[in-house]
Parts: sequence; structure tokens; C-alpha cells
Amino acid sequence: MKQSTTLIPTLREVPADAEIKSHQLLLRAGYMRQNSSGVYSFMPLGKKVLQKIENIVREEMDNAGAVELLMPALQQAEFWQESGRWYTYGPELMRLKDRNDREFALGATHEEVVTSLIRDEIKSYKRLPLTVYQIQTKFRDEKRPRFGLLRGREFIMKDAYSFHANQDSLDKAYQKLFQAYSNIFARCGLDYRAVIADSGAMGGKDTHEFMALSEVGEDTIAYSDSSDYAANIEMAPVITQYEKSQEAPAAMEKVHTPDQRTIEEVAAHLSVSADKCIKSLLFKIDDRHVLVLVRGDHEVNDIKLKNHFNASTVELAAPAETKEIVGCAVGSLGPVDVSDKVTVIADHAVKAIVNGVTGANEEGYHYINVNPEQDFHADEYLDLRFITEGDVSPDGKGKIIFAKGIEVGHVFKLGTRYSEAMNAVYLDENGRTQPMIMGCYGIGVSRTLAAVAEQFNDEKGLVWPVDLAPYQVHLIPVNMKNEEQAGLAEELYSQLKAEHLDVLMDDRQERPGVKFADSDLIGIPVRITVGKMAAEGIVEVKDRRTGEMFEISKENLIDQVRNLLSKQ
Ligand code: ATP
Ligand code: MG
Repeated sequence: MKQSTTLIPTLREVPADAEIKSHQLLLRAGYMRQNSSGVYSFMPLGKKVLQKIENIVREEMDNAGAVELLMPALQQAEFWQESGRWYTYGPELMRLKDRNDREFALGATHEEVVTSLIRDEIKSYKRLPLTVYQIQTKFRDEKRPRFGLLRGREFIMKDAYSFHANQDSLDKAYQKLFQAYSNIFARCGLDYRAVIADSGAMGGKDTHEFMALSEVGEDTIAYSDSSDYAANIEMAPVITQYEKSQEAPAAMEKVHTPDQRTIEEVAAHLSVSADKCIKSLLFKIDDRHVLVLVRGDHEVNDIKLKNHFNASTVELAAPAETKEIVGCAVGSLGPVDVSDKVTVIADHAVKAIVNGVTGANEEGYHYINVNPEQDFHADEYLDLRFITEGDVSPDGKGKIIFAKGIEVGHVFKLGTRYSEAMNAVYLDENGRTQPMIMGCYGIGVSRTLAAVAEQFNDEKGLVWPVDLAPYQVHLIPVNMKNEEQAGLAEELYSQLKAEHLDVLMDDRQERPGVKFADSDLIGIPVRITVGKMAAEGIVEVKDRRTGEMFEISKENLIDQVRNLLSKQ
């Protein structure tokens, strides 16, 4: 491709509203342009990278036994009404009406469409299992679209759905697709972790998220420093065994703590450490109120609460509710003498506290020398807190470290959530009607592009891994007006193309400084500069990734280029 005939609108300035590196660089290097909030055009370079990612995805999905199809983005409301999600999905689902006032949604995801499609086509166990996938534009009216392609309102997703006659078959497909995802993200060059995730509102069981490690990620991953254990921090169980101190239990005493409400304030006021305090929070879990106790230096993990109570909503009780039920403000809550008013549950760490401190359920007062099961009773001791760095890894191997991650993929065992709601059934070997068992598997294709850009850049611009780069070679004649340079550049351009190397030639009449700066910004792995030595048939080769540069005669060029491109 000649640069004069394509469209690579590079920018010198950092666009004002682009906060993170990938967003800035993809705009500056002319890979994309914003149309409206969270909506982008892929420019020719962006489209090429996208295509490379899509091809990797296709190869690995096909290898895993999935088959590609394409479903509509325009989806009739009836499907979503059947599954019930028309009423629960909320404003993220973009809804519209046709000229006859019929309601539609723009596909945010395709469980409904695919379930209706397959239920109409498959009636017998003999046709199962089946895994289908598509690569398609999705629409979600995100509350806060941001970070460019990382959270768009229109974005490209690969979504796959599998249908099974039994759990074992689903487990096998899940394993295969898990492996396919690992291959895909490895081939994209990403530093990633597959983490145990929360099945949340989707109503299934097993689920993993694939996280590209990055400071700008929205999720926190807890992983082991010495095994492959990794989980979303919400999901990591705490297996720490707490030892009680040898301190002799003293008699509980009420003390005045005027204006001291937070754990930090109370701990400082009473000169005790936070781990001697019992943090007490009143939660509303579905319709019941539960007082939850954790150690002062720990945080309550509401997913663990939700799972324990099998609840659909978990929220902190409002101050007015707290006052009504326990008779005090939120900052004075404690577990002493409340058993008749609310259920009390405590984290395991609380049981090991000796002579602790807790709110007295009375404004301006706390108790000191509080001892569990002597001064208050908890109905249950459970794992209720967030894991912290330094905790024992849940698999017992090593210690936990935290990292931030960008969710690029998600595999999920759905079970019969959709097939039951939408009556997607088949006849089993005994002629009995059974709901199909399903799995779903998503990859944020455009988000993956941004995640790679986020991991692969330097102060000069993007530095693409070879397999994703829009072109393999950037050929730059320094001065197009110089006949020898222009002539040699044309000759090499034809030769590289004949060798099936994907080459971009900067044939613009620009100053060399502009050409080199643009080239660094765009980030093509190999640069060939045709300059002063053109008459002798000598060019300069530069590896964008290492900065390594050398001169070489045109006869040896192709081998050297191939050599550089083969280095990962
Ligand atoms: P998130 O928690 O980031 O909102 P999600 O759980 O809503 O993601 P899924 O419904 O599992 O995402 O969608 C499958 C994949 O699509 C995600 O793993 C992610 O890579 C991608 N994705 C989801 N929302 C967006 C978005 N707004 N912009 C770009 N990619 C997205
Ligand atoms: Mg989302």
C-alpha cells in the first residue's frame, strides 16, 4: 500500500479527552476516530488490526469445533420479553420502534436470538452438541463510555453459544473454548490471566474471565505468587486460620468516644490498632436485615454475602433504617445486645479477637474489652471479607498479589436459564423432552485491540506485536524527489510484495522528520529507510521493538526482514 493512497491521519497533539495511552495513541496514529461518545470509526490501519485479531479468533474457534454464523443486530422485543430480560436489562439495552410501532432492541448480546434460532432447528439429541459463533457489532448504552475502545457503546464482539444434551458435554465444550481463548490471547501477545469470576446476574455456575493485565483495568485480580491461581478479588475465598492472642480476656466496659465514628478515628482515639476493632455494618439482604461483622482492617465482600444468602440484592441499610432497627447512627453500630433485633454474622477473623473494640449502639459510645461469644453472640462465623495482598492463596500455594485487569474475554456455563425460559427443548434417547444445556463465550474484539495497544507502546508511539501489526514492513524513501531513492524504493516495494510481505510505503513528499515520527507513532515492526546510500543499493533497517538498526545491501534485505519478523 502506498501511503499517498490510503488514509492515515496522524496527529501531533494529544487529544484532550483521551486519558489513557491506548486511546491517545490510536487517535494520534490515525487508527480510529470518534463519532460520538463511545462510538468510533475504524480508519484503514485500525481496520487492518481488527481483521488480524478476528482472523486469529476465527482460526481458534474453528479449531475448537465452533461454527461461524451471523445473526441480526436488530432484534425483535418479543425474544427479550420471552427471556424476561426486556424488563431487567435496563437502559444499557438500546430500544427502538419500527414504522409500525413494533419494538426492537439493538443487540447487546445474543442469548435470546440464538436460543430462538436453535430451538426452531434442533429437536433431537442426535443433533447435539452444537457450538455457534459470530463476530459482530454490539450495542450497549453504557453509563460511562470511556477509554476509547475499552468501553464503547458500539463495539465488536465475538460471541459463541453452545448447546448440549448433558452437563458432561457442556463441561467438555467449556474446556475446549477455555483453551481456545488462552490460545487467542497468547497469539495476540497479551500478558493475561484467566480468572475465576462471579456468575452474577447471568444465573449460571462456572465462569472465567480473561483479563489483560494493565494499570488502567477496572477489575482487580488476586493471583498467587507461586501457582496459576487467579480470581476476581470478589471471588477469592480466604482460607487464613486465625490464631487467638494469649492476652487474658478482660471485663467489657463502655467508654465515651465523642465524634469518633470511623474505625480509624476510634482506633486512634483509644490507641488500639484497627485489627482490634470489630467493624459492624447493617445490610439489607433482599428483605431481611443482617448485622455483618469483620475485623477493623478488613472489608466486607458483598458478593460473599449475596452467595451465602442466595440473595438477589445486597445493600447497606439506609441511616434512617439503621436508626429505626438498632436505635443508633451508622457509626455507633455494634453486636452487643442486638441478637433479638437482627441476625448477626461474623467473619472468621472476628472470632479470634481478644479484648476488642466495637460500637455501643449509642451515639458517642464504644465498648472496649469486647470478647466474642462472651459479650455478644454471632449466629454464624463465615468467610465474609475481601482477600488482601499477602493472604495465603486459596489453593494453598504461595501468597496473594493484586493486579489490575481489562476483561477481554468471558466464558460461562449458562445451564438452562435461557432454554427453560424460551422453551428450547429436544427429545432425549428415551423420547423425553429436555431443556438444552447452554454455554456462552464472549470476546471483546475491539476491546482486545485497545488492550494490546495499552500493553505495547513506548514514548514514541505504538509498538505492535508482529502478528497484529497493520503492516509488516514500513518502507520509507527519505526524499521522493531524489530519483535514485524513489527508484530503489519502488523496486523494493515490488519485491517485498512479490515475497508476500505486507508493506506500507511512505511515498509522501514530506520532510524526513515527519516521516520518521509518523512511522514510530504507527508502530510497524520493521522499517526500511532508503536514503543517501540508495545509489550503492544499501538501505537501513530498523526493528521498531528493540530500536536495533543496521545497514544492509538490497540483495540480503528479504532474508533480514524475515529474520526480524520471526522474532517474537
Ligand atoms: P464489563 O464488565 O466490562 O462491562 P461485561 O461483563 O458486560 O463486561 P460481557 O457481557 O461478558 O461483558 O461481554 C463479553 C465481552 O465483550 C467482554 O468480556 C468484553 O471483552 C466485551 N465488552 C463488554 N462490554 C464492552 C464495551 N462496552 N465495550 C467494548 N467491549 C465490551
Ligand atoms: Mg458490562
